[in-house]
Formats: sequence, C-alpha cells, structure tokens
Amino acid sequence: MISIPQEIHDGLIAHARQGFPLEVCGILGGTGETVTVAYPMTNTDASNEHFMMEPKEQFAVVKELRASGLSMLAIYHSHPETPARPSEEDIRLALTPQVSYLIVSLADPARPDVKSYRIEQGVVAAEPIAITAEDE
Ligand SMILES: [Zn+2]
Repeated sequence: MISIPQEIHDGLIAHARQGFPLEVCGILGGTGETVTVAYPMTNTDASNEHFMMEPKEQFAVVKELRASGLSMLAIYHSHPETPARPSEEDIRLALTPQVSYLIVSLADPARPDVKSYRIEQGVVAAEPIAITAEDE
C-alpha cells in the first residue's frame, strides 16, 4: 500500500494533463508508505510512449530527499492514451529497488486513472493506493 495526500494525487493528474500528449514523469518522496512530496521531472525522451528521467535532476532530487530525511517512495509517469498498466518496456526498465511505480492514465480524459504497482525482476503486483485528506 502507498498513501498519498489528495493534493499530491491531484497534482499528478494535473502534471499528466499539462504534459499531454507526451508522457510526464516524476518522483514521490516520503517516509514509510506515506508520500509527502512530489517532484515533477523532465522526460528527456519527449515521447508519448516512453519516459526517461533526466539523470542530473534525478540525482539532485534523491540528494535533496536524503538531506530532508525522506526516501524515494515512488516513480510516476503518465500514459496519455493507454490504460494505467505497466507496458512491457515499463516492466523491463523498472530497475529501481524498493519503490512503487505509479501510472497516471488519461486514456479516458474525463476520468483519469492512477494505479500503483510493485515491479520486482519482471513480476508486477498491483498495490492499493490510499488517498488521504490534507489535514491527516
Ligand atoms: Zn508506461
């Protein structure tokens, strides 16, 4: 399970919409299973079916998280036109250990879909997302 404040959850959808029709990506940080911060990142692939985080940005975010005593909990990206399921490439490139992989689908633009997965060595497991109110 991953716990995400409503505001950050909405922010992921806003980021996906802003980047449409290209994929967007970013990092979620926090402690335990609770997300407290989101970092939208540059998709260096500038594609609508691939993403690659900009390595220097990624390094800077990981460093900043560490300095704040937080961990990288999740990597998110958008699927502008496909469902919120990991593609074969997503599975192949899911090499960061111990993180959740969130996908924001805009396949139905009126009803964005956010799903979370654990992907370990090619094995995908869906993970529940708990959306928390801001004052919790
Ligand atoms: Zn994908």
